[in-house]
Amino acid sequence: MKQATGRMLITNGQLLDGTGRPAVSNAALLIEDGRIAYAGPAADCPRVGEDTPADDTIRIDAAGGTIMPGLIEAHIHLTYFNVTELQDLDIKYPVEYVTLQSAVNAKTALECGYTSARSGGCLHNIDVWMKKAIEEDMIPGPRLTASGREICGAGGLMDWNPDYRKIGMEGIVFIVNGPDQARTAVRKLVKDGIEWVKTYPTGDAASPDINDHHTLSMTFEEMHAVVATAHNHSLKVTGHCRATAGIKNALTAGYDAIEHGTFMDDECLELLLQRNVPMCPGLGFEKFSVDRGREFGLSQRVIDGHQETLEAGAESCRKVLKAGGTMGLGGDYGFGWTPHGTYAQELTFFVDYVGFSPLDTIRCGTLGGAKMMGRDEELGSLEAGKLADVLVVKGDVLADISLLEKRENLLAVIQGGIVKAGRLAADPAFLGGA
Ligand SMILES: [Zn+2]
Repeated sequence: MKQATGRMLITNGQLLDGTGRPAVSNAALLIEDGRIAYAGPAADCPRVGEDTPADDTIRIDAAGGTIMPGLIEAHIHLTYFNVTELQDLDIKYPVEYVTLQSAVNAKTALECGYTSARSGGCLHNIDVWMKKAIEEDMIPGPRLTASGREICGAGGLMDWNPDYRKIGMEGIVFIVNGPDQARTAVRKLVKDGIEWVKTYPTGDAASPDINDHHTLSMTFEEMHAVVATAHNHSLKVTGHCRATAGIKNALTAGYDAIEHGTFMDDECLELLLQRNVPMCPGLGFEKFSVDRGREFGLSQRVIDGHQETLEAGAESCRKVLKAGGTMGLGGDYGFGWTPHGTYAQELTFFVDYVGFSPLDTIRCGTLGGAKMMGRDEELGSLEAGKLADVLVVKGDVLADISLLEKRENLLAVIQGGIVKAGRLAADPAFLGGA
């Protein structure tokens, strides 16, 4: 991805650096060649030659608002859109159409202030190629980590097509029976060029009859085979983990991250903390499913399951936060009731429902996401040396985190020092970047 050349100086706002440190009022952020050169009180900012006629520093006035790191979606599904039932995830549209829609979703995510995203699985191998297209500036979108197709045990959550239809699940998931097939699936993913292997250790409230949130969808042996094969090829492994036994299996098998971590008991928490395994709760989805599921035809049993997941998941998040664990935020946007473009309601939900402070929420939504991606050395916070992925937001997001939900509040969405979206992107002064 192209980086800016030259200098940019953002002033007249409070700075939230993403590390969880308190806001710095009247701050300045200095960017040089697409990387952060200084972030802190304006009074201590190196002077950038405002007195010299040749000074070509690009200046942004934050208008008394907030200067913060770009948001990171820690569990995005670029290929999901208008999903109302599980089948919509796979066979509804051909890969050509899904690819086009995914490009639109990537652009939307960037416009919403998400400068990076970690894929939580996708149809075919779209996110691998989407990542390349974004890296090469062919299309706008968040910096991505890719995971391609997922892996689930036969008869598990993702194996929903009845055998009499004689259609497989090749588009979205490898259905495996035993460790050998699990290894085969990972080896295919190795060749596909993915970074994160996404698996399904457990079921979900969405499938109340045979694969609910207390059911296992893979055996420990299958999960262990996935981890051993993936790690041998330097890939990381994560999984959809609701049931307590599934979380435990994943952490014992050596998973590198946990998605959801819903029914987390003390033993799971201990295992999570031992290796500091990051977790993406993806929890807002449960609340929004409870609130709006009926409109979209979800059965009462499914809604009740989401309610149970919501309450247990919120408790797990509070435990992990209190214990000092690492969390990224985001998850499963692209359903009918959680369309792409509404990602930032996850942050509001974590403040209003789960009870996180706005500062902790922003830390999880920025640096936490970068840790989940494995790229926190260069992304996720406003610290000298890191890539300048920055939001300039109208207003005080600590006082009202829901400001981030509205695109019109984003003055600038900056990637590598280049203004890519937000109100200033329409200003000719910013076309082509710094
Ligand atoms: Zn997901």
